[in-house]
Amino acid sequence: MADFQEFYPLRRHNTFGFDVRARLAVHVRSEQDLVEALDDPRARDLPVVVLGGGSNVVLSGDLDALVLLMEIPGYRVDATGADVHVTAGAGENWHGLVCRTIDDGLPGLENLALIPGTVGAAPIQNIGAYGVELCERFASVRAYDRQTRAFVELDAAQCAFGYRDSVFKHAGRDRYIITAVTLRLPRPWQPALGYAELARELEGVASPEAGRIRDAVVAIRSRKLPDPAVIGNAGSFFKNPIVEAAQRDALAAGHPTLVSYRQPDGRYKLAAGWLIDQCGFKGVNDGPVGVYGKQALVLVHHGGGSARDLLALAGRIADTVEERFGVRIEAEPVIV
Ligand SMILES: Cc1cc2nc3c(=O)[nH]c(=O)nc-3n(C[C@H](O)[C@H](O)[C@H](O)COP(=O)(O)OP(=O)(O)OC[C@H]3O[C@@H](n4cnc5c(N)ncnc54)[C@H](O)[C@@H]3O)c2cc1C
Repeated sequence: MADFQEFYPLRRHNTFGFDVRARLAVHVRSEQDLVEALDDPRARDLPVVVLGGGSNVVLSGDLDALVLLMEIPGYRVDATGADVHVTAGAGENWHGLVCRTIDDGLPGLENLALIPGTVGAAPIQNIGAYGVELCERFASVRAYDRQTRAFVELDAAQCAFGYRDSVFKHAGRDRYIITAVTLRLPRPWQPALGYAELARELEGVASPEAGRIRDAVVAIRSRKLPDPAVIGNAGSFFKNPIVEAAQRDALAAGHPTLVSYRQPDGRYKLAAGWLIDQCGFKGVNDGPVGVYGKQALVLVHHGGGSARDLLALAGRIADTVEERFGVRIEAEPVIV
């Protein structure tokens, strides 16, 4: 029998710090815990919500659901092939994994340092930062398929990774529960220093090692982003919109400081933070929620508010950006 807890408080399980409860919650520390919880007759009629660190969700109210708190541990290295493969349990802390691999002399994840949350959630939105995306270091996931009630292995093609996107946000949503992730760390290691801000931070450092790059990423992130332990947030609240070249050119003609990045397919990614900043939202507070003063892309919760307050502000921002620039920006976190 699963060790369910009723009306379980989730405030410490979402980095916005919204004070909501789960009808049933269970700490999942093994694959057996997972199957037992899903098979338990007490949970049979409830929808299932999977939570890692809660750093990319907006919990919109009390959840009449079974909440699986993913805490499966594990760390295994296979260095027998050309590349190194590292398998980690879904419940491992992502930044902890980055540091552990570096300490073990296995570079490759350093650009993704200090991203909050768990290993199991990393493939869901194909986490990315400072010029590297998870899919570039990815081999496979092990997941429980709720449709076939069996464990499966999914490779990169099956995960259909895109910009902050994967199959787990579409056809695989509510179907797969990830229990472990295997990363492929290519050999020989090449540092990824193409991101201008990172290159600036490392100016004067000849041939930086992975640990030095990790420290630089941590330093930049600590300056720019609010610590969820201090102020509720989920990192970037909006995805950078991708537009056709013609639309970007028309916008750039009217707004010479427009920040945009050419994509391999010829389209352009616009900096959502710039769009929001231009609309005057940076640092604006609206009761218990607001826009972070140092980074317009980050929405914050000062306490005592709810997802309703946050989503109202997010909607107002998206509407204003659309009216002014003709571009719709979309939320990055999963609204539960
Ligand atoms: C300060 C801050 C900075 C951030 N910076 C970045 C950044 O630079 N780049 C970036 O990409 N993201 C960033 N994020 C977002 C977030 O950290 C990542 O998306 C992270 O991977 C979420 O992990 P989590 O364990 O907290 O997931 P959760 O928020 O718990 O869950 C996110 C989604 O994944 C699902 N999920 C979680 N675990 C599993 C599982 N085992 N199996 C199936 N589904 C699962 C959940 O149901 C939910 O839909 C940032 C967040 C914060 C607060």
